[in-house]
Amino acid sequence: MDYKQYIKIVEDWPQEGIQFKDITPLMDDGNVFKSAVDDIVTYAHKKNIDLVVGPEARGFIIGCPVSYALSVGFAPVRKEGKLPRDVVKVDYGSEYSENVLTIHKDAIKPGQRILITDDLLATGGTIEATIQLVEGLGGIVAGCAFLVELSYLNGADKLKGYDILTLTSFE
Ligand code: 5GP
Repeated sequence: MDYKQYIKIVEDWPQEGIQFKDITPLMDDGNVFKSAVDDIVTYAHKKNIDLVVGPEARGFIIGCPVSYALSVGFAPVRKEGKLPRDVVKVDYGSEYSENVLTIHKDAIKPGQRILITDDLLATGGTIEATIQLVEGLGGIVAGCAFLVELSYLNGADKLKGYDILTLTSFE
């Protein structure tokens, strides 16, 4: 399916100079959203996934239906102060902010095969930080899946050596 037509470009949001890619039109259409989730599930089936991990907030939107379809768990990666129990954390920079991401210390068992999901790959900072959290807990990053890649921001360069699926790309 051509998913690109369901991504709306919003100029100067959340700040001037940023061309935000809004995925909500894709989610609004049940058939298109299902097709996108199914494509990621098909990819994940080849990877023997034990657990899906996704950063807040749109990583949850993609990751949770995928984990449900695979009958595996979902572990949230959240900004500092949002998870209630012991966490590990990592600092990272995204396209337009500096942040800290955290995951519960006991979210991953060493050796588990992890699928990381997010809506969009931009500079790769978010996913690189998520990979650090997963690997820090002994997880194996078996794949990373995104609806959208902004290839002009070269995020994939940070993910060399990892297997990536992107459903559509903006050059
Ligand atoms: P990165 O860390 O790769 O620079 O940025 C990706 C992260 O920021 C993702 O978690 C994504 O949700 C969010 N993000 C950055 N730019 C956009 C955008 O244009 N559209 C959407 N939907 N998310 C974005």
